[in-house]
Amino acid sequence: EAPLLRVDNLEKRFEIGGRLLAAAKTVRAVDDVSFAINKGETLGLVGESGCGKTTVGRLVLRLIEPTAGEITFDGTDLKSLQPAEMRAMRRDLQIIFQDPLGALNPRMSVGELIIEPMVIHGIGTPAERYRRLGELLNLVGLARYHAGRFPHEFSGGQRQRICIARALALNPRFIVCDEAASALDVSIQAQILNLLQDLKAELDLTYLFISHDLGVIRHISDRVMVMYLGKVVEYGDKQQIFERPAHPYTIALLRSAPARHKGKTRYRAIAGDLPSPFDPPPGCPFHSRCPIAREICTSTPPPLSPVAGGTHQAACHFAGEMTL
Ligand code: SF4
Repeated sequence: EAPLLRVDNLEKRFEIGGRLLAAAKTVRAVDDVSFAINKGETLGLVGESGCGKTTVGRLVLRLIEPTAGEITFDGTDLKSLQPAEMRAMRRDLQIIFQDPLGALNPRMSVGELIIEPMVIHGIGTPAERYRRLGELLNLVGLARYHAGRFPHEFSGGQRQRICIARALALNPRFIVCDEAASALDVSIQAQILNLLQDLKAELDLTYLFISHDLGVIRHISDRVMVMYLGKVVEYGDKQQIFERPAHPYTIALLRSAPARHKGKTRYRAIAGDLPSPFDPPPGCPFHSRCPIAREICTSTPPPLSPVAGGTHQAACHFAGEMTL
């Protein structure tokens, strides 16, 4: 079966500082990124801030235009669509952001916020929309009487439920969750993640789940893609990534994740600073921080290649040499 979403050689360059700097600088925010997501699957996209993961989420929905590359959704090349066709396609493709308050117009009631996408897309009669509003509130675990209230009257977790109801209003098939639970307290975060999991099963959804938090990614993903400085450095099944990571950056990320040790939470930072995206290092982008870097790493970029002949891939000249 063909994947629901396929992304090939996606690239986004930003030109920065044309007038202020002597010469404009180009940042490759997303550099030759390819992946596929099957129907009903969750692909977790993880990396430090600035690695390009949020840009990938926006490119996939064409909220920003790629510099190069193909995006195919259910057999349709999204880049070939005219604006009106893309608007119609948006019914299938939704996004949930990190900051629910910023995403919700404070002057609209919850009911208006959830019904608005149906109005914009001309779906249903007022009575049908009202019925659908009840269904959506129910789906996300909010009471009917909440419809008349305003976003500021809710907690962060409830506001995220409102955003989820709004994203579901048009019956989408694919949702980008961009740090969708990251701003919430840990216990509320778990509730929102569980809600997203339940909705996925119930409504047959497919997710691209973006997070800097490896615990969240491990909880929710089927497959995982790790990005560093705009590039995919490792891609594989959840077990492969978390149990047998092959790329030194993934290993560093996993080692830096907080671990409970003798009742205390310990963090280990990744050695070295993240290089400037304006001036990425030549060769392997991770070489300035990699404990096993050698001569070749400073000059030759490693291609994403299969590890142990399977679906697991890593972009490292010495993939698998380091172990967790
Ligand atoms: Fe480290 Fe070299 Fe592998 Fe890059 S290619 S991750 S520098 S060993």
